[in-house]
Amino acid sequence: MATLSCDIPESLSWALEQRFQATREDTSTFVSRVLLRALSKPVHTLFQVSTSRALVQGVYQEAVSSTRLLGHGDFGLGTFDELDGEMVVLDGIVYQVRSDGTVHHIDGDVGTPFATVLFFSPGEDVQLQSLESFAALCAVCDQHRASQNIFYAFRVDGVFSHVHTRAMHKQQSGVSLKTAAGRQPEFHFNDIEGTLVGFWSPQYVGSVDIPGYHFHFLSKDRTKGGHVLECAGADIRLQIEIVKEFHLSLPDTEEFLQADLTVDLSKDLSAAEGNHSERKS
Ligand SMILES: [Zn+2]
Repeated sequence: MATLSCDIPESLSWALEQRFQATREDTSTFVSRVLLRALSKPVHTLFQVSTSRALVQGVYQEAVSSTRLLGHGDFGLGTFDELDGEMVVLDGIVYQVRSDGTVHHIDGDVGTPFATVLFFSPGEDVQLQSLESFAALCAVCDQHRASQNIFYAFRVDGVFSHVHTRAMHKQQSGVSLKTAAGRQPEFHFNDIEGTLVGFWSPQYVGSVDIPGYHFHFLSKDRTKGGHVLECAGADIRLQIEIVKEFHLSLPDTEEFLQADLTVDLSKDLSAAEGNHSERKS
């Protein structure tokens, strides 16, 4: 994160202080949100690359570059060309969690066949003493969702007593997501500080996005991560953003243009992208 320091009139400073006391929103979040609006960056708008139905069918070639992706958001998740690991976008940086468990900071340009990002601008900020499980996290998030019909973004920071993740193995295009998910390595981390990056999407977008909750993890030291299967922790900060705008970017690759996307593969999507371990199901 960059640090911004500047002089402003006393009267404005006083007004800002009043606002912070009233809303409990921190300065960084507020200034980022105002700057995004002033600089014409889309606010509360999900940018989605390709569709979950194409991903389930094995359409794994680049649809959008990571540089373009960052033009549409600083927070999100997805995967990479040929399903080469899990993507976490946090504070404007793209991280790749590979199947050997290593985490790479992407500073060049790489491709993604499927990703969801936005400029994170939370409207709610809550503190939780503890979280017993992934189900408990979902239950808390449920309490802060007033609708089943719009999108939500969640950022969860804290100290996790346990995080269980997986990371996809690189695959050739055409291997179905369900088959690919059956070969994914899983990881267990204990007593680890970090961030969960996640979304909740409505059921009706099941052929485009991944319905329900979907979280990826990144440790504070940026060396561990993955698609979250289970977690527990304490001293948790949960930030929530309501999202009502949706921008879908469709690939113009031959692979996507010729794919048969008429088949409903929602069960395969749920099996591959759900938060359960493939070995347990
Ligand atoms: Zn995932």
